[in-house]
Amino acid sequence: MKIIDIQPYVLSQELENPFYFSQWHYASRKICLVKIILEDGTYGWGEGYGPADMIKTGIEFFKPFILGENVLENEKLWQIMYLRSLDFGRSGIFNAAISAIDVGMWDAKGKLLNQPVSVLLGGVKNPVIHPYATGFYFTDSPTLEEDLAKEAKLYRELGFKAAKMKVGLGLEKDVYYVNLLNQHLGDDVKLMIDSNHAYNYREALELSKRLEHLNIGWFEEPVHPEDYQGYKKLRENTTIPIAGGECEYLRHGFKRLFENECVDIAQPDICATGGLTEAKRIATLASTYHKDIVPHSWGTWIAISAAVHFVSNLDQNPGRMFRDAPMIELDRTENPLRDDVTTHHIKVENGEIRIPTQPGLGVDVNQEFLEKYSIEKDASTEPLWS
Ligand SMILES: [Mg+2]
Repeated sequence: MKIIDIQPYVLSQELENPFYFSQWHYASRKICLVKIILEDGTYGWGEGYGPADMIKTGIEFFKPFILGENVLENEKLWQIMYLRSLDFGRSGIFNAAISAIDVGMWDAKGKLLNQPVSVLLGGVKNPVIHPYATGFYFTDSPTLEEDLAKEAKLYRELGFKAAKMKVGLGLEKDVYYVNLLNQHLGDDVKLMIDSNHAYNYREALELSKRLEHLNIGWFEEPVHPEDYQGYKKLRENTTIPIAGGECEYLRHGFKRLFENECVDIAQPDICATGGLTEAKRIATLASTYHKDIVPHSWGTWIAISAAVHFVSNLDQNPGRMFRDAPMIELDRTENPLRDDVTTHHIKVENGEIRIPTQPGLGVDVNQEFLEKYSIEKDASTEPLWS
């Protein structure tokens, strides 16, 4: 079944309540979606993670090489895009553009074959997934501490089994806020911390030592993404599990992370690291190093759904009768694009997600919303992103 059109869209919306983390402030959210249209009218939706205008340009670069090709040969088409960009972008934006098209092709293929993506990936090995809440960003509000306490209460009430907060504001502030939120979340909700590579090895080690007694779920991106030795040393010297990988691209990036024994938990972003096609290869690689995978996700329900289908197919490694369900990241910060751009999305009930059985990814886009927030802008005006 031929692909007859590839339509990228950049959507942007200002936030009512800007927030910040260790690297910068967010005042808006901006995303790149892509619609893959087949000759019989079937279509699929994909999404890229990163600077949206640049991803759109990448999609437009790949478009002529994919048009007229058979969507059922999506792995072949992945290779065409990879070889066309390899010399100029072994990691980064080109990979995110490949990811967006790849996810869109999986969605279209599922709709065409009337099968959910999880089945096309090989089947549902994990029928239940536990999303963890990503939130607790910082704001300039004078009631910040009350707001954070309310947020913790909400996550508890919604049944989340784990939640993640940002650190990287400086050691003293971090220790204060981590203790505060750990108390508010109580014993039933595990707390993870994420510095977004704000620290060097010494700082990350000191923070770890001061928080180890709190039974933290993991310390994410403690050091610079290129500091493989820093990751390795930290992992050897703290009891807190180490997570990372949202800045890694393709299986080659994860090979470096695994070879250097950097992480316990690998966090590929399906919409950046090479799409579902490459994420499946990364999962195979991770299994040979006996690492867990919990995908990074910071997008709409298209990206979240791609992660759900992917995680449903992950191997149990090691397998056992009594084990926790695998996790995915569920960003709970303000994002009207995420909440409104799809007409329906996967339900979270009692802190659990069950794998959707509709064809494709199981989400569709609200065309009216898409047109309302679609923009044409020069890449130089790119606002802040994650
Ligand atoms: Mg992160």
